[in-house]
Amino acid sequence: MKKRTFLRLAGAIGAGWLLSPLVRLRAKGKMREKLKNWAGNIDYSTENLHRAKSVNDAKVYVRKTEKLKVLGTRHCFNTIADSKDGFLSLTELPDAPVIDAAARTVTIDANMTYGRLAPWLEEKGYALHNLASLPHISVAGAVSTATHGSGENNGNLSTAVTGLELVTANGELLQLSRNKDGEVFRGAVVGLGALGAIMKVTLEIQPAFQARQWVYQNMPMEAVEAHFDQIEGSGYSVSLFTDWRNRNVNEVWIKDRIGDAKQFEAKPEFFGAKLAKKNLHPIAEISAENCTEQMGAPGPWYDRLPHFKMGFMPSAGKELQSEFFVPRKDAVKAILALEKLHEEISPHLLITEIRAIAADDLWLSPCYQQDSVAIHFTWQQDWPAVKAVLPELEKALAPFAVRPHWGKLFTLEPAVLRSRYKKLTEFVELAQKYDPQGKFRNEFLNRHVFAIR
Ligand SMILES: Cc1cc2nc3c(=O)[nH]c(=O)nc-3n(C[C@H](O)[C@H](O)[C@H](O)COP(=O)(O)OP(=O)(O)OC[C@H]3O[C@@H](n4cnc5c(N)ncnc54)[C@H](O)[C@@H]3O)c2cc1C
Repeated sequence: MKKRTFLRLAGAIGAGWLLSPLVRLRAKGKMREKLKNWAGNIDYSTENLHRAKSVNDAKVYVRKTEKLKVLGTRHCFNTIADSKDGFLSLTELPDAPVIDAAARTVTIDANMTYGRLAPWLEEKGYALHNLASLPHISVAGAVSTATHGSGENNGNLSTAVTGLELVTANGELLQLSRNKDGEVFRGAVVGLGALGAIMKVTLEIQPAFQARQWVYQNMPMEAVEAHFDQIEGSGYSVSLFTDWRNRNVNEVWIKDRIGDAKQFEAKPEFFGAKLAKKNLHPIAEISAENCTEQMGAPGPWYDRLPHFKMGFMPSAGKELQSEFFVPRKDAVKAILALEKLHEEISPHLLITEIRAIAADDLWLSPCYQQDSVAIHFTWQQDWPAVKAVLPELEKALAPFAVRPHWGKLFTLEPAVLRSRYKKLTEFVELAQKYDPQGKFRNEFLNRHVFAIR
């Protein structure tokens, strides 16, 4: 990588934490806070934010408020969480996780983050099946947009949900469970915040496990083309990182569960890539200080499944993200179609990550009824440039009926979304049942979900 490129990346990833999402403004002599998303690319349209002190307080606020949006940890890159009218925040509610050992579940307050939940669970001898690349997101916000980790046999994080407790538009509590509520439950879990304010989430847990990971460098794209299934099947969780330059996958991260029948054998070479001899960041030029331990060192599940350590920020916020899900069977064709666009993509990109996710039956999940491969783009924070390249990329992926990540940037038209998310019409009906006046809808939802009937 050229020095100039490296400095640009380091600037984008290393120093942006100075930009707080809550930008303090001096207004009429007193400090007030401007509400932004984590990346700082979205100024929310109101600063009218109610911090609920209790479930009852949330119920009263919802009942008396005409329009609102519940805010999680603000990690979405588009306006799905925005509101012109008002926000309900649950950050002041206590984290009070409760384990049901017999049912193998934990019930948590919705605003709890995976970063707080995971070490707590480990201490009690339990684990979750998977985690996203960063732990700082709220569980409710994550499951509402079908946030995922990696692993061809792992469903996204929403698939671990067995129960939800929501305050719906009339201010009443609604309890839904996987066992009792069948299709309604499957429609509600990836709810985009449109069904009500989630107060509690129940998640499946399993005995705590140890894991380890290895990183390989420089896998030729030809090897991906010829051996994609073997590569993806080599570990519990596999990620391919590429900047789309030189027909090369820069890094392959393979994570394994210790004790599983099938164990990854870390040979010096893996489909043409070389085993790294030190810990690496997904962008090799950046210090790996914040990355989870590699080179086969065993550690607790929550300190190996994410790429970044719990106590650290994975990156700065000065970035944009897009992600597209293609059917697993079309993954290689989709990767090669994008490879052809490398001259358009690479100049605006920090890194791409490619992950496999198992099919599920949650209506608005991008993996609904199809094993999928998610192709993710961490872009430089240059929206005009990204906005120009996205339609080309979406066009290249169109033959594979690509579905976008709900919380990231895309330019696909609502009619296209409707053809790709088969249960969108049923979801609209479900949301109308619990929220007939559209109290929890915003412009994003009206355009992309509710205007399609
Ligand atoms: C650095 C970074 C890394 C990421 N890595 C991954 C990754 O590995 N995999 C992946 O799939 N995604 C990833 N994401 C995307 C992220 O997981 C999703 O955008 C997720 O929805 C963020 O959760 P949040 O709590 O911040 O939600 P917000 O952005 O605050 O809200 C998202 C939606 O959820 C709703 N919502 C939030 N809380 C509630 C509630 N209590 N009740 C009802 N509705 C609610 C909001 O109204 C909104 O519609 C990443 C994002 C960032 C910034």
